[in-house]
Amino acid sequence: MYSRRTFLQKMTGSAAALSLSPAILSTAVLSAATSSAGCTTTDGPVLRVAILGLGSYGTRVAEAMQACTKAKLVGVISGTPSKIPVWQAKYNIPAKNCYNYENFDQIKNNPDIDAVYVITPNATHKDFVIRAAKAGKQVISEKPMAINAAEAREMIAACKAAGVHLLVGYRMHFEPKTLEVIRMRKAGELGKILFFQGLSGFVSGDPHQWRRNPKLSGGGAMMDIGIYSVNGARYMVGEEPIWVTAQETKNDPDKFVPGIDETILFQLGFPGGAVASCLSTYDMNNLDKFFLNGSSGYAELFPATGYGPTKGRTNKGELTQPDTVHQTVQMDEMSGILLQGHKPIVPVDGEEALRDALVIEAIYEAARTGQKVLLRS
Ligand code: NAD
Repeated sequence: MYSRRTFLQKMTGSAAALSLSPAILSTAVLSAATSSAGCTTTDGPVLRVAILGLGSYGTRVAEAMQACTKAKLVGVISGTPSKIPVWQAKYNIPAKNCYNYENFDQIKNNPDIDAVYVITPNATHKDFVIRAAKAGKQVISEKPMAINAAEAREMIAACKAAGVHLLVGYRMHFEPKTLEVIRMRKAGELGKILFFQGLSGFVSGDPHQWRRNPKLSGGGAMMDIGIYSVNGARYMVGEEPIWVTAQETKNDPDKFVPGIDETILFQLGFPGGAVASCLSTYDMNNLDKFFLNGSSGYAELFPATGYGPTKGRTNKGELTQPDTVHQTVQMDEMSGILLQGHKPIVPVDGEEALRDALVIEAIYEAARTGQKVLLRS
């Protein structure tokens, strides 16, 4: 059983944890463990994960996984040989579970690894995801799963053909305050949804990083951070946008080369009549805010998508749901999805990422042409 005790262990602040409302927990979280995998604890079967890409976010995920009760880091795949012994020592990883980018297809012969988590530059996700799927492993990809909709479809098809799941590291889909706002909206407590504002940005530093190379990033701020407002608009409003308009500005064309968007303002229209107004930028800090307005209430999250603590309030007062380590909860929840068939409140699958990719493509087109771009709902 995924007990209240184990959930509380994932809270970053025990005082806040005491105000935990069961309503924010998915039925998945609370359901009992029934199936078996290579390894089982009292919390259920354990997802045995190999991380592919041992960079800064891979490191954060690995550290967070140490507190998981239903997921365990058991393998690594890296293009940098010197990193492997360091990770082996830190996480007690046996040599038989270590691979490089050349030999990692052999992972198909390794029964001790259930899933591969791809945490490399955006444009490399597609090939690594498809190789992991062909090796018969469950696949988790970091966001943006794909740099365009065509690649997203190819990845979804490859995973389907291989009979494996494709999940995406949408950690906010498991964040308690975010889920409370979604619960309020679904329960009608905000009335008819009219408006969403999403502000996502930071100042991009090192010019030599892959994020500033279009061949590896697939785009600029929009692919990296603006995607939080795209995805947030969709899960906050609870509908798929039907039109997009966008305007791009670039204060520093030397710093942000062609193919790397610096600042894009975009607007989305939803079938129910709601509109969204969002900003994606690599040129401003302190920009991590969501605001959802309905006919009878509002919700604000600020910061909305950073690593935490997430803070927020609604017309009823401050949100008091507990702070969590996002990556710990994400990996335990993904274990439930992959090994026990749990359904998350907000999807975290390849189709969800395809919808983001379609909106981002439309935003780029609208910014380029100055035209309103229609999307199918
Ligand atoms: P990073 O530069 O710190 O690490 C990238 C890793 O990929 C490095 O270990 C690098 O050696 C490896 N790599 C593999 N192929 C490479 C190539 N062709 N060129 C360069 N490096 C290559 O980057 P990061 O911040 O860890 O980001 C990795 C992915 O994680 C990105 O897709 C990013 O969007 C995503 N990310 C997600 C979150 C989140 O909160 N969900 C946060 C940060 C990053």
